[in-house]
Amino acid sequence: MNIRRFAVVGAGQMGSGIAQVAAAQGLDVIMTDIGESFLIKGVKTITTQLDRSVAKGTLSDAEKQAILGRIRPGTDLKLLADVDFVVEAASENEAIKIKIFEDLDSICPSRAILATNTSSIPIGRVASGTRRPDKVIGMHFMNPVPVMKLVEVIRSLATSDETFELTWNLALTLGKTPALANDFPGFISNRVLMPMINEAVYCLYHGVGRREDIDTVMTLGMNHPMGPLALADLIGLDTCLAIMETLYAGFSDSKYRPCPLLKKYVEAGWLGRKTGKGFYEYP
Ligand code: NAD
Repeated sequence: MNIRRFAVVGAGQMGSGIAQVAAAQGLDVIMTDIGESFLIKGVKTITTQLDRSVAKGTLSDAEKQAILGRIRPGTDLKLLADVDFVVEAASENEAIKIKIFEDLDSICPSRAILATNTSSIPIGRVASGTRRPDKVIGMHFMNPVPVMKLVEVIRSLATSDETFELTWNLALTLGKTPALANDFPGFISNRVLMPMINEAVYCLYHGVGRREDIDTVMTLGMNHPMGPLALADLIGLDTCLAIMETLYAGFSDSKYRPCPLLKKYVEAGWLGRKTGKGFYEYP
């Protein structure tokens, strides 16, 4: 199948980034979300990113307009009645994703591949409400999508070879480097990354170090480009907590218990950059 009509469900930081990258490669993109305000924010994020490239001289104004012109925002999932490939990038919540996939299964043509950008929820569970588990796959982009090269491609037990090959090749077409993971909670990326971030939150919680010291140890001592607390703010603390809860429940192993401080921040609405406050402040 030649993928021409592409769609993204969820216009948050990941969905808007995926829409931008697909439109930049010439695909027609439908971007949906549950409300107009989320779509307006998503389009604004894309416009700001493209404006930066124009200012740097790496993109012409005409190219910027062409990319924006290929993205069609809308709140009605029925807009996806003739798409070839969908990437779902809604909030990291299993019930929400299962419902979206049930709806996509009834709306999208039978040829369409339904991918999820979930950070941790097993693909087999997301596929469970569809009649096409062979066409369901994980396509896990990294944040920020236009910058980061990796796409983790996750096959469930039911994913067909054809779906896998199309998804792998699509990642290459989008200028990304795919890596294959099997279907376990957190896959490879968040099985390794998130317990490290959670442990950094424990260091703060136990008073082992101040936020700056914890991040300095990991940037200068371990050569990480960002400290774990700053990275948690970038990812979103709600997403970090949801991933830890998926690991904890999925493996029934106490080593994945989320730090109480992480829970407290999420309860307070301190979700990181997207709300202006997390472990750091973003005025
Ligand atoms: P976000 O909070 O920025 O955006 C989520 C969007 O989903 C919101 O705009 C929300 O309105 C929308 N949404 C919620 N329910 C919906 C529904 N039923 N239908 C359509 N849209 C709906 O979150 P994000 O950081 O963009 O994360 C989205 C997904 O990508 C999650 O599964 C997350 O785990 C995954 N992910 C996040 C990162 C990261 O660093 N933030 C990295 C890789 C993958």
